[in-house]
Formats: sequence, structure tokens, C-alpha cells
Amino acid sequence: MAATVIDGKAFAARVRGQVAEHVARLKEESGIIPGLAVVLVGEDPASQVYVRSKGKQTVEVGMNSYEHKLDVDTSEADLLALIDRLNKDADVHGILVQLPLPSHLNEDMVINSIDPAKDVDGFHISNVGLLGTGQKSMVPCTPLGCLMMLRDHHGSLSGLNAVVIGRSNIVGKPMAQLLLNDSCTVTIAHSRTKDLAEVVGRADIVIAAVGRPEMVPGDWIKPGATVIDVGINRIDKPEGGTRLVGDCDYASCAAVAGAITPVPGGVGPMTIACLLANTVTACCRAHGLIEPQGLTA
Ligand code: NAD
Repeated sequence: MAATVIDGKAFAARVRGQVAEHVARLKEESGIIPGLAVVLVGEDPASQVYVRSKGKQTVEVGMNSYEHKLDVDTSEADLLALIDRLNKDADVHGILVQLPLPSHLNEDMVINSIDPAKDVDGFHISNVGLLGTGQKSMVPCTPLGCLMMLRDHHGSLSGLNAVVIGRSNIVGKPMAQLLLNDSCTVTIAHSRTKDLAEVVGRADIVIAAVGRPEMVPGDWIKPGATVIDVGINRIDKPEGGTRLVGDCDYASCAAVAGAITPVPGGVGPMTIACLLANTVTACCRAHGLIEPQGLTA
């Protein structure tokens, strides 16, 4: 039977709708408007596209968007001074520093200078520790989006075997932690994993976050498993031009999986939707108000 296609675009639109409803309620009942500040250092074209898209969607759900574009040669002291101002600004509930930063800036130091309560990317060491100990935290957006789709599809994830391919701080590790917190039996695979095919073949849930085009073929997948493809890879088309593919070979995986996310249109759209969700959550927490249901882990 053909796999259920998990439509991330439609799912993300639903999440944005829930965020917009909550934002409207906050405005009406408390006069509060959640605000998201995005800091971009330099002119990396991909980062510029992401930042524009984040700003546009922030405004579309009724929140305030504050964009700070800094020169590529901005000093660490100036960047830290800006973050300090944003930390103290009561109108700013979420702060996101677009990564990667130019090489003269220490990413860890910059991220750890953000107030953890405003760290809507969930990368601050305090949030990493809170997530790791199963406490309330800000959760990284891409893994949060994957979790939402999995919970929606499966209901309970308890007892399922999950294999996460990739161990990055941004996707792989927090994803594994979230699945563990939802009582999955979790294996993290990576570039040194032996017999990846056998490891993946045991999984009820496969999360691929590697960055290698179509590296997971359908014959690795256990029949009926759920495949969440985080990878975004641009490859050349034989007829010229390029196209986006995931880390999984979509056609062969879809032929055996029970459910699968496509690329594009799967995990990708969920990331910004979860950033907006994290911002409204951070705003509610800052004001001691009830958080929206279903928009965090
Ligand atoms: P990364 O480069 O930081 O990490 C890649 C991981 O893959 C590493 O942990 C490495 O050990 C593992 N790996 C590399 N080769 C491997 C192999 N042959 N077998 C098994 N594991 C291997 O990447 P990342 O930031 O985690 O991103 C992963 C992918 O997800 C990229 O394609 C990226 O573009 C995409 N991504 C998508 C979104 C989204 O919004 N959809 C967000 C973040 C990342």
C-alpha cells in the first residue's frame, strides 16, 4: 500500500493559524503583542532568504517583527551589545541570531548570551540542559516540527523504535532527546555507524538529518515505518537546472513506508511555523499567561 504523505505545508499552515488565533486573543485580552527579533550578520544569500521569510510570516500571524541587519565585519562586542539590548527590551519575546555567523564570531558565546527565556531557537546551553533532563524549555524548531507531525500521525510514540540519522546540535541530538522524552527507544546513527542499513531496518520511525542527497534507499526501511526526511539538498537535473531532494530516496522509501514527509513540502515549512509557535510560547511564559496547547513539546 502506498505510504501516507505527511503534508508539512498544510500542517505548517494549521500551526500558523493556531499561533495567529492565540496572538489575537493575547492582544484582545491583555493588550500584548508578541515580538520576534531576528539578527542577521553579513549577506549570506540563503540566510537573507530565511530572514525575509521569517519576518514576513511573523507579521502575517499578527506579531511584531524586528530585523537587525549587521555588517559582515561587525565585532563580537557590538553583536553582544545588541543582544544585551534585546534581552532587556520588554517588547521582544523571542531573539533569533541567524546561523552560520561569520568565522570571526564565536557562535557558542553569541548564542549563550541570549536570555534563555527568549531563545526561540532553543540552542542556549540552558535550554539544551532543560530538554536533556525532560524539563520545560525552548525546543529547537526543526525537531519540534518533526515531533508535532509524528504525534499527529501516531498519537502516542511510546515504545516505538526510533532511529535518528545525524547527531548535530541543531537537529539530530535534540530530535533524539524529544523522542526519548516521548518514550521511544532511540538510536542515534552517524557517519561512523556500522551497518546503517541494519540499524535503520529496525526502526518504526526514521528521522534522516544528514545532508546527503537520497542516501537512504527504500530497501533499508521496515515496511510500514514512518520516514521523516529533514535533509534539504540541491542536485543537478539531467536536463539542466537543479531540484531539491531529501536524504531519503523518496520513490523507493514511499513504496515501503507507512508514512513519509516529502522534500520539499515536508519538514521545511514546519521550521518557521515552530519558530512562531516558540515566540508566542515565550511571550506567554514572560507574562505568566496560559501557553497555547499543542504548540510545544
Ligand atoms: P550537520 O552537517 O550538522 O550534521 C550531519 C550529520 O550527519 C552529522 O552528525 C554526521 O555524523 C551525519 N552523517 C554524515 N554522513 C553520514 C553518513 N554517511 N551516514 C550517517 N550519518 C552521516 O547537518 P544538520 O544541520 O543536522 O542538517 C542535516 C540536513 O538537514 C541538511 O540537509 C540540512 O540542510 C537539513 N536541515 C533542514 C532543516 C529544515 O528546516 N527542514 C533545518 C535544519 C537542517
